[in-house]
Amino acid sequence: MSTFKAVFAQQIDGKPQISIQQIDRASLPPGDVLVRVQYSDLNYKDGLAVTGRPGVIRKYPMIPGIDLAGVVEESSSADWKSGDEVVVTGCGLSETAWGGYAELARVRADWLVRLPKGLTLKQAMAIGTAGFTAMQCVVALERHGLVPVSGGDVLVTGAAGGVGSIAVAILAKLGYRVAASTGRAELGDYLRSLGASEIVDRNTLNAPAKRPLDSERWAGAVDTVGGDTLAAIVRALVPNGSVAACGVAGGAALTTTVFPFILRGVNLLGINSVYVSRSDRLLIWDRLSRDLPLPLLDSMTQEAPLESVFDLGEKIIAGAIRGRTVIRIS
Ligand code: NDP
Repeated sequence: MSTFKAVFAQQIDGKPQISIQQIDRASLPPGDVLVRVQYSDLNYKDGLAVTGRPGVIRKYPMIPGIDLAGVVEESSSADWKSGDEVVVTGCGLSETAWGGYAELARVRADWLVRLPKGLTLKQAMAIGTAGFTAMQCVVALERHGLVPVSGGDVLVTGAAGGVGSIAVAILAKLGYRVAASTGRAELGDYLRSLGASEIVDRNTLNAPAKRPLDSERWAGAVDTVGGDTLAAIVRALVPNGSVAACGVAGGAALTTTVFPFILRGVNLLGINSVYVSRSDRLLIWDRLSRDLPLPLLDSMTQEAPLESVFDLGEKIIAGAIRGRTVIRIS
């Protein structure tokens, strides 16, 4: 095959133009390993990229899709051979390197992770960057002392979204009492099915601050929303409690005082799924294969064809996607 199908983003007269095209195989960038992509997925960042919004694609032309899972077709690396099943997440795909919304991808050998035992390629993409980030948040909280017997619930915000849904399922499986914050009350049963013990209304959580400190309520938190929500969490953490902040779906401005930090010793842990050591990357995938119940993962996952990414991209930006969406490539 001299060409392959891909979502292709170009900049024409300073404006992004994005469509599905047949791309010449010879134009693939250099790299150690050629992967035949079977699945990618839909993350908030993919929504920004495929709808032409700024913030993700840093050079053109670009193939969006921040994650991919597939089978090695050719390799110049001793670590990988034809037929190996592999996964790439959080390595700059769709930012500076061509990504997963394509039948073929050529990538660096050290970006690849072997498909974890017990997972299919589709399940690996149901996890994707969202699930990786959710587990990265849990590991960061544990490293700052969170254990299931800590006083107070663990809060997950943006709970019905991709990162949020997986964080709820992992924390519940680990034995935490999980409070799930959502703006979609109608998804309460869905969140309870993932293991949430309590549903917290997003607007109640975000009520304007009356004092720099609120009652001690959260033993820890995974925050995918940012803005006023993050400020509200910081005010209500227990002493020495931590929030793992990974997202900005609700805004990037943070208005708080220093009191929660110096009077309660709380920790604001910034989480970025790109800046992860190789050993932690492998540890996080291993934890995902053990601590995320696969029936729950399957229950929160929908599958869609490549052609649907433009519509789905608008929906995820609008906060209207539930759980995880896997994109079928070939
Ligand atoms: P989703 O769109 O799947 O989930 C986001 C959720 O946030 C929505 O489902 C909704 O939850 C809530 N939400 C949406 N809009 C608003 C709003 N205006 N105000 C408050 N809440 C809102 O996205 P992902 O789960 O893929 O990503 C979540 C965030 O995490 C994004 O900001 C993304 O960029 C970030 N992220 C960061 C990573 C990192 O490495 N730091 C990696 C992966 C993601 P509900 O309906 O329950 O209210």
